[in-house]
Amino acid sequence: MAESRNIGLDVRAPDKACEDINCPFHGKLSLRGKLLTGRTVSVSAKNMAVIERESFQYNPKYMRYLKKRSKVHAHLPPCLDNIGVGDTVLVAETRPLAKTVSFVVVAKQSDLRKTILTNP
Ligand SMILES: [Zn+2]
Repeated sequence: MAESRNIGLDVRAPDKACEDINCPFHGKLSLRGKLLTGRTVSVSAKNMAVIERESFQYNPKYMRYLKKRSKVHAHLPPCLDNIGVGDTVLVAETRPLAKTVSFVVVAKQSDLRKTILTNP
């Protein structure tokens, strides 16, 4: 197993190592703030994943719930190469890495040993 840092979350470090400085496991990136889960809708951009999250909001006028969607751009370190479109992933907030990227993918939801409480 490759050498990796303790990122402060109860997730298993990836089996592969990587050279990415912005990898929470093998680089120098620190995590703070929110934890979110969402479904991956794109992994086309280099080292980035687009995560879509669905929520429901009550509309008093029509007395119905509206389905809301939002997208989060997250850095995807090269060691997490088993993540593809359609996977549910856990992302953690970090410092801004690019104009729209201030989250990093830390684990695939199906690889987690137990549920990690995330922000709404
Ligand atoms: Zn890595």
